[in-house]
Amino acid sequence: MNGPSHHPDDDLLLAYAAGGPGGVKALLVATHLAFCPDCRRRVAAFEAECGAWLETLPPSDGTDDGLTALLARLDDQPRSPAPPVPASRRRTVPLHNPTIPEPLRSRLGGPVEGFAWTPVSEGVDLSVWSQADGGSSVCLLRMAAGHPVPPHHHTAGEMLLVLKGGFRDEYGHFVRGDVASYVGDSDHHAVADTDGECLCLFLLDGPIEFLDAPATPPA
Ligand SMILES: [Zn+2]
Repeated sequence: MNGPSHHPDDDLLLAYAAGGPGGVKALLVATHLAFCPDCRRRVAAFEAECGAWLETLPPSDGTDDGLTALLARLDDQPRSPAPPVPASRRRTVPLHNPTIPEPLRSRLGGPVEGFAWTPVSEGVDLSVWSQADGGSSVCLLRMAAGHPVPPHHHTAGEMLLVLKGGFRDEYGHFVRGDVASYVGDSDHHAVADTDGECLCLFLLDGPIEFLDAPATPPA
């Protein structure tokens, strides 16, 4: 089975496997896992590594040498092969709403078509639905076919998970299931694919400023 081409980085997958981060970043990672067999295997491998490491952990001496060693060992792992995922850990994408997999679907509480949307430019809207946790917030970003996201400035990191359709920017072509990550003070110019609407889960680590926009999105 082919999965997404763009994934969360290993530091984030390892943190997820170790039980953190929680909140909205974990929601984005968990929803990506619903699309991505490769990252499910990777998280399972990290969880096994973390469990084995914790069992051998000596009493803390106040340094993070053990964690540094674990990270170095995990960095040496190839992306595949990885252990198969046990049946009990497999996730199912519900058939009656194929666009939005769990766990995001339950958090949304209803079809996105019924949401209120705030326009940021012609053909581009942000959902009024949003959730915040631990300094990050998520909302939904909707781009009509072929429309660009207007110029904006990131004051902090930004991540996207494509839920429907696709877009291109300076960093590549991102389609359903793909994750895109951008560091603070970076710039990119996203344009939705021309063959249909693009819907993304949009995670911000700080306020975002749309330039010359008619409305201000949630911080
Ligand atoms: Zn992945």
